[in-house]
Amino acid sequence: SRAFIVGRFQPFHLGHLEVIQEILKDHESVIIGIGSAQYSHTLQNPFTAGERHLMISNTLESRKIFNFYIIPIEDVNSNPLWVAHVESLTPHFSSVYTNNPLVKRLFYEKKYNVKSMELINRVEWSGTRIRDRMIRGENWERDVPETVSEIIREIDGVERLRALSESDD
Ligand code: ATP
Ligand code: MG
Repeated sequence: SRAFIVGRFQPFHLGHLEVIQEILKDHESVIIGIGSAQYSHTLQNPFTAGERHLMISNTLESRKIFNFYIIPIEDVNSNPLWVAHVESLTPHFSSVYTNNPLVKRLFYEKKYNVKSMELINRVEWSGTRIRDRMIRGENWERDVPETVSEIIREIDGVERLRALSESDD
């Protein structure tokens, strides 16, 4: 069976990696939706869909995981249409893994098997926390796979985030 997980992955961190590995214990493959795909270069969404795609695919392949599909998903500003929008972009799947109450509810109403995941080491493994650390010049690299810190270095991601965090007055 195939499972679906959606996130913004800003950036892809070790919590995401653990969750995907857990999902693959129960499913033949996983569809990874890159949410808010149209956004980049903002404090909440610094990385492009392409950059996030590379973070995820390089990391999983480096760990010899190949049974995944990565699908960028742009926001639609209509909650009742969102599940149909996802379905129009992805291969068929039966289970959805999410902690987001809205995503849970929308898939539940469409009869999907919705499962919550246990948050792992959430104090450290949180996108918001990692972005904050980048801006403050604190250590963030230990919270992401090495493949992700390499990509962020290549694209000068920390400098991008710092520049975005400067005020314009
Ligand atoms: P942000 O702080 O930017 O929202 P995030 O760490 O919550 O970042 P998302 O891209 O929002 O990351 O998360 C995608 C999915 O992964 C969500 O359903 C989220 O609950 C799950 N997830 C995120 N961090 C962890 C973690 N440490 N352990 C388990 N699941 C996680
Ligand atoms: Mg989140």
